[in-house]
Formats: sequence, C-alpha cells, structure tokens
Amino acid sequence: MSIRVTVWHEYRHEKTNPVVAKLYPQGIHEAIAGHLRKNKVFNVSTATLDEPQAGLTDEKLANTDVLTWWGHTAHGDVPDAVVDRVCERVTQHGMGLLVLHSGHFSKVFKKLMGTSCDLKWREDPTEREILWVTRPGHPIVQGIDDHFILDHEEMYGEFFDIPEPETVYLISSFSGGEVFRSGCTWTRGAGKIVYFRPGHETFPTYYDANVLKVIENAVKWAAPTGENVLKFGNRKRGWVEKT
Ligand code: ZN
Repeated sequence: MSIRVTVWHEYRHEKTNPVVAKLYPQGIHEAIAGHLRKNKVFNVSTATLDEPQAGLTDEKLANTDVLTWWGHTAHGDVPDAVVDRVCERVTQHGMGLLVLHSGHFSKVFKKLMGTSCDLKWREDPTEREILWVTRPGHPIVQGIDDHFILDHEEMYGEFFDIPEPETVYLISSFSGGEVFRSGCTWTRGAGKIVYFRPGHETFPTYYDANVLKVIENAVKWAAPTGENVLKFGNRKRGWVEKT
C-alpha cells in the first residue's frame, strides 16, 4: 500500500537569499520530494506557505498520510486555522508528522508539544556535526551506521525545551562542544510525530545520503497503520462478550 506524503515548505529563503536559491533551485521541498519519489512506496506531493490556505486545505490533509514540515522565517504567517487543522489531523486521524530543523519553532510543533521548543543555536560555517545513533535497530535509523557526519551545519544545543521524547534515536555533537537530541519521537492521540534536526538552508544537507535515508525511514515509520483508531463517548453496560 502506498504512503501519501505531503512535503510542506515555507519556501521563502530561496526567493530572497541567493545562496539558498543556488543550493536549492527548486526549493528545499523539491530536494526532499525528489528523493522520496525514487521510492515507489511513496505517493509524493508538495505544498508551500504562499499557496491558498498555506497549501493545506481540508481535502489536501484528508489525502495525506504523512506531512513533513520545514519552516523558519515565517512561522507567524501560517494561519491559525491551518495549524489547528494539521494538529487535529495528527491527533484525531493519525496523520504522521515529520518536523525538520527550524520547524522546531513552528506553531504546529509547539502546539503539539505544549512547551516553548526553544534551544541554543549558532550559525558558523566551520561547525561540524556528528550524529550518533542512540537506538540501534529502530526503523528510523535502518541502514544508518553507528554515526554519520555533516561537515557543515548550524549548531543546535541543549537545553532543547521539549517534553520527554518517547524515543531519542539520534544525538548530535558539534565541533564547538554542544550536544543535542537531534532525533526524537512522540505520540499525540492517534498520530506519530518525529523530529529530525539537520537542515539549515545555507548548507547542502538535503543532498546528504544519510539525511535523506533518515527522512525516508521516518516517513515510513510515522505513516498511520489503521490500528490507532480512537473511540470515545458513552459506553453501555452489557457489551462484554458472553462466555
Ligand atoms: Zn537553521
């Protein structure tokens, strides 16, 4: 069965910063979507902030199994109605959500986490990141060695103000000395949520084979299985199976 994945992207940096435009001429969303399209299990589409309703209409979300989210400079421009709709889709209908890099500060992620989601950061082109696998055998790190290195990335450092994750599958160390919980998962209602840290817009991170592998794995893992159907409301006595 195919997984319908919608790659959502703010898509603003590419239009204003020539460095980003050169790195990602079709936008970060197309770099991610282009990789996912190589795997026939995925039915891939994209949506961006400047489309009507931020590209996330009821119909679009009803036809999305997993949503990936990259935002940075325009979190505040995402309409609250869209945020509510996305969160409801996750918690009530089991849509998977993969939050990437600076998406940690998106309204959607903050609403689902209930914390500030703040962290320390430093933009320094000499920063090197090593991502260490902390849950060997977890489906999200399938095919990944015990670590991988990104020669140039933005630094994110602890403390990362998130609720205690259900799983931390990757921890990063940076050449500047900081560490960070770079790969985390949570469940909210019927939905699975994944956070994956790397992906600063001025670095070619979304061409890195390990990064793309983790994204691909995370989308598969977060897809609804159909087993998380939530049932609520009044329950009459007498339902117990007679023996
Ligand atoms: Zn960044």
